[in-house]
Amino acid sequence: MRQLRGALERGNAHHAYLLAGPEGVGKELLARTFAQAANCEVEDVSARPCGACASCRGIERGNFPDVTVLMPQTEMLARGLIARADLEGAPSKEIRVDDVRALARRLSFAALRGRRKIAIVTPADALNERAQNTLLKTLEEPPPGTTFLMISANPDALLPTIRSRCARVQLGPVPEDVLVARLVRDGTPAAEAKERAARAEGSFSRALAAQGQWGELLAGVESALGSDDERAALDLAEAYGERDAALEVADAVHAWTRDVLVAQAGGVPEMRELAAKANEIAASVAPRALLAQAELCADVIEALRQNGNGRLQLERLLIGARELRRV
Ligand SMILES: [Zn+2]
Repeated sequence: MRQLRGALERGNAHHAYLLAGPEGVGKELLARTFAQAANCEVEDVSARPCGACASCRGIERGNFPDVTVLMPQTEMLARGLIARADLEGAPSKEIRVDDVRALARRLSFAALRGRRKIAIVTPADALNERAQNTLLKTLEEPPPGTTFLMISANPDALLPTIRSRCARVQLGPVPEDVLVARLVRDGTPAAEAKERAARAEGSFSRALAAQGQWGELLAGVESALGSDDERAALDLAEAYGERDAALEVADAVHAWTRDVLVAQAGGVPEMRELAAKANEIAASVAPRALLAQAELCADVIEALRQNGNGRLQLERLLIGARELRRV
């Protein structure tokens, strides 16, 4: 997000980004946050997105005229955005050329309410080849004041001509050898660790899911976040200050934050054994603080992957999350 926010603040946002990375790393959340930051109404650029103004809320709810989300019909059905009865014939799994044309028409008009028109294509690899070729024309001559956010877990499925038109933002998976080392440290036999790491697609939460061993860690994190004193947060950051350990904590808090958001939306959290705790936090922390916390986690994970200092990044995460809950 820092990369994208910086571009907005400097007024040089690229006209197309490819947000790439495996499922569950927060690509859509990032796209929505970017759309909010680009159209937020508060004066102070560094406070955008505020999450509270009419534009931010409209984008959150999916009804803001200058943010268009393009997705296949199957996806719209799954999210309850259309009803089966609205469709003639079977729902399409692809984004088709007519959908892209309708989008291009819409983007040819000036922004209605916002500063910047945003088109989110999710997943971009659902565009069939004709649709990609049609979209390419729009990407080559983008309408002024427009940014495309192409989301994909499988960017190699896109035409190279599309990829080359987009600035790539990689939301990276955890390297497999780091996952293996973590599992082995817990006493998982090497062969099994390798196998499990390969299946985990770069996610600590998937690699460790079967083990249910984050309970104690996350209880410690929550108690530090809820404490009046910063001391507990700083102690945790120090205890897990080694970079791989810090990465695991950040990943655990990221997965946990998603779980609490899921609980808040009335769903069942992934970490079943921690469901009661997730419901408790969901009832007491504002959705806005949780979304910002998820974004902070993603930022910290990115910094750690780029060799950021473990203790400092964890301090940034835990102190930052504490502050989010106190606004
Ligand atoms: Zn706002």
